[in-house]
Parts: sequence; C-alpha cells; structure tokens
Amino acid sequence: MLSGVEALRTERDILDWAAADFGGIVTERPRAVLRPESADDISAVLGFAAERNIPVAARGRGHSGFGQAQARDGIVIDMTGLGRVLRVEDDRVVAEAGATWGEVLRATLAHDRTPPVLTDYLGVSVGGTLSAGGISGTTHRYGVQTDTVLSLDVLTGDGVERTCSRTESPELFHAVRAGYGRCGVIVRATLPLIPAPVRVRRFKIYYPTAAELLTRERQLLHEGRFDFLQGEILPVGGGWTYMLDVAAYDSPADDATLLDGLGYEPARDATEDLAYWDFANRLADAEKLLTQTGEWFAPHAWSNLLLPDNATDPYLADLMAGLTQEDLGAAGLVLTYPVFRRNLTTPLFRVPDEDVVFLVAVIRFGPEPAVDRQLAANRDWYEKAVAAGGTAYPSGAIPGIDWTRQLDPAAAARYDPHGIFRR
Ligand SMILES: Cc1cc2nc3c(=O)[nH]c(=O)nc-3n(C[C@H](O)[C@H](O)[C@H](O)COP(=O)(O)OP(=O)(O)OC[C@H]3O[C@@H](n4cnc5c(N)ncnc54)[C@H](O)[C@@H]3O)c2cc1C
Repeated sequence: MLSGVEALRTERDILDWAAADFGGIVTERPRAVLRPESADDISAVLGFAAERNIPVAARGRGHSGFGQAQARDGIVIDMTGLGRVLRVEDDRVVAEAGATWGEVLRATLAHDRTPPVLTDYLGVSVGGTLSAGGISGTTHRYGVQTDTVLSLDVLTGDGVERTCSRTESPELFHAVRAGYGRCGVIVRATLPLIPAPVRVRRFKIYYPTAAELLTRERQLLHEGRFDFLQGEILPVGGGWTYMLDVAAYDSPADDATLLDGLGYEPARDATEDLAYWDFANRLADAEKLLTQTGEWFAPHAWSNLLLPDNATDPYLADLMAGLTQEDLGAAGLVLTYPVFRRNLTTPLFRVPDEDVVFLVAVIRFGPEPAVDRQLAANRDWYEKAVAAGGTAYPSGAIPGIDWTRQLDPAAAARYDPHGIFRR
C-alpha cells in the first residue's frame, strides 16, 4: 500500500472529479489528489506541498457551490477515506472528518443518541460543515454545528497535528471552525450527543404571504414550542406558497396544544408522524429523484445570506419580486431559518448584529443556461444584504465574496506559515 506522497494520484478521471463540485460552476483542476488512509499521509503531503509552494485544499463531500474545496494546480485531499466513526459515548462521539452526518447519526442512534444539530441533508461531511457552519432547523435552539463541537484534531499548515477546543489552543479552535480549511485540515472531531427522540411529529402549515410566514417563525422562535423550526417558500402553479415546517420530538403535548393559534387547517395543511431517522434523512428521496432526472448534477447557483431581523421582510419581498419559478426550478425553494444571535458564538461564522437573524437561502435547481444571470443576481442580493447589515454564509455560489472579511488573515498566517491553504 502506498502512503504519503507516493499515494498522490494523477489519473485524468481523478483530477476531473476533484475539479468539480455540487455547484457545477467553477472548475479548477488540481495537479494531484491524495486519498489518505491516515493523518500521517496528509501530514507528509502538507510538508511536500509547503516545500514546493503548492496550494492544498481539503475536500469533504464536494457539496460546495463555487469551488471552495478545489485547488487550482494544487493538491486536493479527498477526506472520504478518513470517514470512520471511532467512538460513541453517552455524551459525545468521536468521528473522522470525512464521515457524513448520516454515518455519524447511524452510529449514534445505535446508542439512542444524536448530535443536537444535523444538516438538512445528511450526505455532507463532518469536516466540510465544521469548516462552514452547519445550520438546520434545530439551530434556533443550539446554534450552528460549529457552536456545538467539543474539540478538533487538526493538521496545521506545518504538518503538525494539534488538538484544540474552547480551553486547549482556543485561538486555533476559533480559526478552524467556519474557517473553510484556511488554517489546517480537520482530521477528527468530538461532537456532543443528546438523547435521540424516538418519534417526530411534523407539521407543514401554509400561509398566504411571506410576511405572515416570517411572523409565525418569529413567534415560534421566542416561544420555543417546537424542536425543529424553518420556513420554506415553494413554487406552486404560477405563484408561491409559504410553508412553516415545524416538528416536535417525543412531545407529550397533543396536536391541539402544539398547533394552538397557528391557523392550522386539516384540509390544507399536513401532519406526519415519523421515526427520528426517517425525519433526519428526509431529503434522501428527493436526492434519489433529482439524481434520476439529472437535476442533481446540473449547475446550482445557490445563495445563503444572513439578515438582521429588522431587514428581513423588505429584503425577502425584494428577493421574491426578482425571482421567477423558472429561475428557481420546479424542485427549488427559498429557505428561511430564524435564529437567536446569542446562540451563534463561532467567531468566523459571521452574523448580523441583532438579537434575531434569519438565514435566507435560495436553493436553485434551475436550467443551466441561466447560470450567469443567476450569479449576477446572487452578487446583487449579497451586496443588498451587506448594505442592510447582513452577512454571507459562503458555502454557495456568490461571486466575489470578500474572504478577508469572512476569515481571519492573521490566524491563517500563523497556522499556515507557507500559505498552502490559500484560495
Ligand atoms: C444538497 C445540499 C444540502 C445542504 N444542506 C445544508 C444544511 O442543511 N446546512 C448547512 O449548513 N449547509 C448545507 N449545505 C451546504 C454545505 O454544508 C456546505 O457546502 C458544506 O461545506 C459541504 O460539506 P462537504 O462535506 O461537501 O464539504 P466540501 O464542499 O467538500 O468542503 C467545504 C469547505 O470545507 C473545507 N473542508 C472540507 N473538509 C475539510 C476538512 N476535513 N478540514 C478542513 N477543511 C475542510 C473545504 O476545503 C471547503 O472550503 C448543503 C449543500 C448541499 C449541496
């Protein structure tokens, strides 16, 4: 078995694979790909790259939207080989960074435990979302995934493995979480666990306007009535439908209590009773379907922005006025997650300075020829968001993101002394 630098792969199909991502818009071809079997393999390659000034990028599952896990003429480290769940305890799980959240959840559910925050889609990697943020319908309660992670084992740019947490090397911990791989390669993460619910009572409630949906989201954020809380704007017929997507985990309350005052109408709205795994894995069927239709592989110009509460209503109204159904695609949607800012404590997860913030995500499955226009719209929405006190969640496809605003250049200089993790 080849190890370290000898294991670098340069076959054309492997380089093509590493030059692509879910976004399907940016294509930066590396000169080699490492499929490591151990942290030592990565360490050897980081030393090799540092000596030769070769750029390096870690790649989790490649679900970024704009080349974030690519390295032009550099080395891509494919983390899928380091994907084991190493240890599950009552209150924590240790997983290699290349594991998907689905693999982590499978392992922890065998012990009736779950990470408090899962991504909506379980096919992204632990290292990938800890490098971005990791937001979901339970973020209103626990923050993003980077707020919950207990500790990380990281190979910094000098090839040295370091453990960091809130109390051990906190500067490194703060620089790596939501740091888009600019200070090192995460090899292992220790994540907190809480008791897993058995059953999930899920409600989908439809409102006539975006304003009403946002009002309900705010109300439920403050009340804390549901464990899972998000809003979705979906194309329907020639217009839009505004859906509140909420769920209660193992709740002793009956439906009448849970739904009190929310205007639930049985003839229009929907209730589901699901096993927790089926709820957590709810996007698996959509992935299967969109894979069959090819929409999973078409370009995806997604935009994710965080808005201060006081700007969200007019911002969303403006955004929806400029969005067509064709542009979004039949399977597309706009997501709105309300969050208390006090729960968002990761320094590099940049958030607006207001008590309540909304993530507004435009999830497109639209036709390919429109990509240039979509990118221009994403850029325009980004500028408007920044002007309104908003910030970017830069995992999607927003051209010209100011990475110096987003990241911490001083930390990068310290932990990546040779500048190999540069963009
Ligand atoms: C279908 C779909 C659903 C999604 N759902 C959600 C969601 O619910 N919530 C959410 O927050 N986001 C979501 N996203 C966005 C997604 O979280 C980010 O794009 C995420 O970073 C992708 O994870 P990945 O494993 O594919 O990472 P990649 O795209 O491979 O990498 C993302 C970034 O992290 C870096 N990186 C990856 N692994 C490591 C590592 N081990 N060490 C250091 N740096 C590393 C890469 O260099 C890159 O900068 C979704 C994306 C898609 C396509």
